Amino acid sequence: MGGWQDNCWTWNLHIDADLLLNDPIGTAEAFGIIELLTNISPIVDAIDNIRWWPNKDGIFNVKSCYNLIRDRELEDVVESESKLALKMIWKTNIQSKLKVFGWRVVLNRLPTKDQLVKRGIIRDEHEEVCVFCDEKPEDLEHLLFKCKISQIVWTSIYGCLDIKEMEDHVGVCHLKKFTQALVGKIKNKKLCLIWLTILWTLWNWRNNIIFKGEVCVLDDMIMNIKYGLVVAHHLQ
Ligand SMILES: [Zn+2]
Repeated sequence: MGGWQDNCWTWNLHIDADLLLNDPIGTAEAFGIIELLTNISPIVDAIDNIRWWPNKDGIFNVKSCYNLIRDRELEDVVESESKLALKMIWKTNIQSKLKVFGWRVVLNRLPTKDQLVKRGIIRDEHEEVCVFCDEKPEDLEHLLFKCKISQIVWTSIYGCLDIKEMEDHVGVCHLKKFTQALVGKIKNKKLCLIWLTILWTLWNWRNNIIFKGEVCVLDDMIMNIKYGLVVAHHLQ
């Protein structure tokens, strides 16, 4: 599972080939776990203890358990829309890392800060703030769709692709509207690819700011996306 090397902990985790081939949801979950563990190492000489992760203090109560079950039931309601989106991504001819990323977006399984708070990995509320706007707490919907910075990026891409704004749509609903708006303009097999490319760029931009301390210039980022769309997907 892992080991110490020169005082540094290294995880040694592999995803089962069967899971990779046959279970997209399980694969997305597995990648999620690996990513969550990447920045975590065991504390030497500490005693293990059990935490109830839905609560910040780690202590179980019925209310949080009820909320957890209610949220899971809500997830089941939207499952059919999500399944269609997962299928669409599954059929798209793209690199597997982009496919897995897409599944995780659809299933809200990216390690955004709200998820890390839920798991007790982030405890300081200042760390929850979105690195794009530095104003609102970061969750998947905010970061990739609702943030004022992400909105500028999307607006610019809408202009480039000659489609109308979709301010109120997020996640799976956004994928549906976005791809519908592009039918007839772009080859069908590339619709999902374009959506994922934009999200992937936003996500990497966010990661570079957090993990590499990079300062990203918005105009450069939009240019990068447009260049990527034109070159990689032959939009011209
Ligand atoms: Zn923001």
